[in-house]
Parts: sequence; structure tokens; C-alpha cells
Amino acid sequence: MTRAYTTGWGQECPCPVNCSIASLHPFYITKKTTMVTCTTQISAVPVQQLLETISLYLHIPFCHTRCHYCDFNTYAGILPLREPYVQALQVEVEQAGKLAQRPDGTPRRARTIFFGGGTPSLLSAIQTARLLRACRSAFAIDQDAEVTLEANPGTLTLEHLIELRTAGINRLSIGAQSFDAVLLKTLGRIHTPDEICQAVYAARSASFTSINLDFMFGLPGQTMQHWYETLDQALALHPEHLSLYSLIIEEGTPFYTWTQEGSIAPGDEDLCADMYEYADERLRAAGYENYEISNWALPGHQCRHNLTYWHNLPYLGMGAGAYSSFAGRRFSNVLAPLEYIRLLRARRSPEAESETVDRVQEMTETAFLELRTAMGIHLPSFEQRFSQPFAQFVGDRLHTVEAAGLLEQTQEWLRLSKRGRLLGNEVFLRLLPN
Ligand code: SF4
Repeated sequence: MTRAYTTGWGQECPCPVNCSIASLHPFYITKKTTMVTCTTQISAVPVQQLLETISLYLHIPFCHTRCHYCDFNTYAGILPLREPYVQALQVEVEQAGKLAQRPDGTPRRARTIFFGGGTPSLLSAIQTARLLRACRSAFAIDQDAEVTLEANPGTLTLEHLIELRTAGINRLSIGAQSFDAVLLKTLGRIHTPDEICQAVYAARSASFTSINLDFMFGLPGQTMQHWYETLDQALALHPEHLSLYSLIIEEGTPFYTWTQEGSIAPGDEDLCADMYEYADERLRAAGYENYEISNWALPGHQCRHNLTYWHNLPYLGMGAGAYSSFAGRRFSNVLAPLEYIRLLRARRSPEAESETVDRVQEMTETAFLELRTAMGIHLPSFEQRFSQPFAQFVGDRLHTVEAAGLLEQTQEWLRLSKRGRLLGNEVFLRLLPN
């Protein structure tokens, strides 16, 4: 029997072998949790067509407090700025819509919207709805667009979630981080393990059918036992998607200072590798596929927005410090929310930095990003996009890296082997031009 699944790009798959049809990035997971590719080219979304679309990111830089490891462009103690910030963001969305207009003056098609932060759930549902309305006026938003909002446990009520769902948010990404109360305190998080469960139950009651939970590993004081228990409790909530990140100590954070002083010690490399491998086995056994290095999803629930980044497709970031990649340029906004508000009030551009991305850079970045995904590089799409075969682009390096057992090629795809995935960055350095 033919079953239809929604692929990463919102295409229904009519393929009789239960695969997806998007020619660029077909993602489909069999019941045995083996990643398979579509061998029957029934339909296709040509890469040129995807390059004509866009993903939208709206940065919400407010947090109740700063977590001890966080170096994002977020701020505690500025909650009174929420309303002027939302007004500024509405103006920027309007500007971005004009910037991205198609040559005939019609709005550009947008496939995904992502409210990230910070803590976007600190905005009221009315403010979130206003921002969504601004997006809908400035862009041609797909009917089935993925619309994600990042939220922190402890900032969500059932009423708020129902309002968000009604406004058009259809995916929640919850920053759970750990189910261990002591580790949550170490991280400087303000929620409790119980609040993670309450947030998920409330989201289900509000009809959210696509929920991501974020967790971290390699934390100071975290043992394998902590990790087993966190994953057990996470799986008991049946999220559609899990993102697991190893702790990175960033300069300028309290964790950095404490590590330098020797008062905390993050998990060592071996422990982190063990945690990662255990998680991968545990989640695969539960029906999730590791479709990108840090991300696991049930069939049909890969994050379409993040796939935009991993396939180096165009996106526009709006809000303080947000990054964009569009029309051969990468650019970013001023970091400080007050300055951002001031510029938008004066109807000026908030852009602070910009660089041109040349063809070789775009090719290198596309390959680098796609190799992070489970499917790897779709070689015909790469050639179609850049008018040059990938093998010709990297030359002899391809054979050297393949011979070392770090890559595997199946039909039209080139991906990291199991060993290659463990070595990650080293493979990229050996394979790609400088
Ligand atoms: S909630 Fe997230 S964005 Fe806010 S301080 Fe903590 S880690 Fe940073």
C-alpha cells in the first residue's frame, strides 16, 4: 500500500516504495529506522525552485535571566522593551518583504518561519500574532508553512499555548536541557524537571502535534546515569523531534570564567562521545532518525527551517543581531535591542555588517553543511545549482578521503561514513578547498 508522508519540504510523497520525492533533500525513514533515498524519480523540487523561496527567522532577545553558558544575543532585565521591540520588528519584516520581492514586484514565497531567541514565549500571544500578520502581508507564506516558536518551560501556560496555536504557531521547540534538577541549576536554568513535563502536556492539550525538546550533554558533573535518565524521561514524553547538543564553553560566559578558575569541569571528549553514541542508539531504537549531527526526528518531523540552513538555501533573519543569507550576500543586524528599535523607529535599515559570498565560498559552504546531514550531498542537485560536478570541484581530495573510509557514495548521494561522522570537522578540512 502506498503511504504518503510529508517530506522536509512539505511535499506529499506518493512513492510506492515509501520514500520522499524532493529531489534535493529527500528524507524518509523506514520502520526499521534506516534512511533510504528515493530511487524512483516521480516528481522533483528542482534546486532552482527552492532557491527562489525563503525562510524567515525572527529574533526575540528577551530572557528572564541569563543562563551560565549562554553567549547568544539575549538580555535579561529589558522586558519593558518588548512592545517597542515588536513594533520595530514589524517595520523590519515590512522592509525585508520589499527587499525580497520578486522581479515582478510580487511577494517572495516563504516556506518556514522561526521565532528564536532568547525566549520568544515571553512575548504575549497578541504580539506574536501581530508579527505573524506582518510576515503574511510582506511574504507569500505557504499554506502548510512550518511556523516554530522557541519556548522555555516555566514560561508557558495552557491558555498562552492555545492562543499561540490559534495565531498560527504549529511547532514548538522547548529548551528542556536536562531532567536533572541539580544540572539545571548548574546551567543557570530557572525551570524544574516537572515544568518540562507540564509544558509538553499543556502543548499537547493545545493541539501541538510537532514538538522539539532540546537537551545538552557533556555538562559539569553529568554522568552517564544522568544521561540515561534524561533520555528515558524525554522519550516518555514522545516528542516528534529531539536536538542534543554538547556543551561548548564560550568566552565571556560565567562557565568560561569558572572553567578557567577550575571550579567546574565540563565532560571530557570520551565521555561526550559515549553520550552521543548512546543517545543515537537509544533514539534510533525508539524510531527516531539522526537526520543531522545534532538532530533526531520521527518520520515527517525533520525541522524544515533548519534544513534551510543545512542546505545553504536563502533566509532572512530579522531582529537584533539576526543574520541573513540572500541574493549572494550575508548580512547581520545591530546587536543592541535599543539601537535596533531606534533605527527602525526612524525607518532606517538595522543592517550592521555585510559580506558578498562568491561562488566558490557558496559551493564550499553548501558541501560542508550538507555533509552534516544524514543524506549528505545530492550530487545532481549540487551540479545543477553550481553548473559543476562535485567531484570536479574537490578534485583528487575526494578519492583520498573516500579511500580513508570517511565517505560513502550511494547512487546520487555522497555522505559521511560512520567513521567520518565521528571525525566530522577533520573530514571537511581534508575534503573541501580552503
Ligand atoms: S534561556 Fe536560552 S537564550 Fe535565554 S539565557 Fe538561557 S540559554 Fe540563553
